[in-house]
Amino acid sequence: MFRINDNFLKLNQSYLFSQVAKKINAYKSNNPGVEIIRMGIGDVTRPLAPSVIDALHKAVDEQASFDTFCGYGPEQGYRFLTEAIAINDYQSRGIDISPEEIFISDGAKSDTGNIGDILSLSNKVALTDPVYPVYRDTNIMSGRASDNNIELLPCTADNNFVPALPESNPDMIYLCYPNNPTGTTLTRSQLKEWVEYAQSHGALILFDSAYEAFITNDDVPHSIYEIEGAKEVAIEFRSFSKTAGFTGLRCAYTVVPKELKGESANGSLISLNELWNRRQSTKFNGASYLSQRAAEAIYSEEGKKQVSETINYYLRNASILRDGLKKAGLTVYGGINAPYIWVKTPDGIDSWTFFDILLTRCNIACTPGVGFGSAGEGYVRLTAFGSYEDCQLAVERLSLL
Ligand code: PLP
Repeated sequence: MFRINDNFLKLNQSYLFSQVAKKINAYKSNNPGVEIIRMGIGDVTRPLAPSVIDALHKAVDEQASFDTFCGYGPEQGYRFLTEAIAINDYQSRGIDISPEEIFISDGAKSDTGNIGDILSLSNKVALTDPVYPVYRDTNIMSGRASDNNIELLPCTADNNFVPALPESNPDMIYLCYPNNPTGTTLTRSQLKEWVEYAQSHGALILFDSAYEAFITNDDVPHSIYEIEGAKEVAIEFRSFSKTAGFTGLRCAYTVVPKELKGESANGSLISLNELWNRRQSTKFNGASYLSQRAAEAIYSEEGKKQVSETINYYLRNASILRDGLKKAGLTVYGGINAPYIWVKTPDGIDSWTFFDILLTRCNIACTPGVGFGSAGEGYVRLTAFGSYEDCQLAVERLSLL
């Protein structure tokens, strides 16, 4: 009989969102007519920017003619998009990243999961806790690590959500800033410590900046490559999902600098850019032409304006929620440089109990923090991706707490 990949059996069963949905549905069927405000799921709700829609229409029309039809594109992404990214997201900030260092994909979830293909299974891994679960689960699936030999770096109010440097000498360190789920950030000098740690310990930083577009504070770096020496120790993941509402359309990118090298079994230094290029060319056939033309459109003057209006809309929601939660006597974190608000549960009650209280007293659905890791116990996450009207209504209902 053929064998399965037993590593999958080592995964924690992820009941989080199904458990949340089950509880909401049970409450709704016992209380018909009650309108629940859903602030649990991290998905956008605003339509795509008009510039993106125009670009999509144009790209669709191009497919109707022999002259402009597109078949397979380059696995690494079309040059028009890698160039627009290099210029707008990096060179305009004084960061020297070239189009050849940028790889377009269908999502940061795939890239953060797939990156392990080019790294040794013997590498040790460090993750922040709470964490976006993809980093942990993909390492367990590949057999690199089981749940109990990954070093977890707790991020709680006690350390102001700034992880302490690791103790186990990990080879791969996943950092996500602005952070999902806590909505907190690292300052430039805090991130510099991590780059210096990676340099001195021969570690690789996997830096997920899917929420970069929400950064408002000047001392929060937009890219890890703002830190000197980071190109030798870090891969950066970005996505158009939250930046421009592409969660349904799908487009993202990963930066693998030419300077970044890892050691092979015989001790020679190998370019990660070349390995990732080889991996993508073999296992990926490129993001669709349509989504890449759509992504390019966010870098036009109009596109930039429209996308930033949507980000500001979500940030205004976050600010309304933060104020309302504080008025209700709760302690809140995040929500300034991120669409997530991390709320301390009152009186030391656990995440799921506070989830129930918010659901039954205020008819607000959140996500229990413990679902993102044990250091998330005692917190819940609210997202600002809903409508302005719903956020205002949620604040009114919070007075019922
Ligand atoms: N990285 C983080 C931290 C996320 O929160 C998400 C989505 O929620 C992703 C990556 C996935 O992004 P994408 O839609 O590009 O796959």
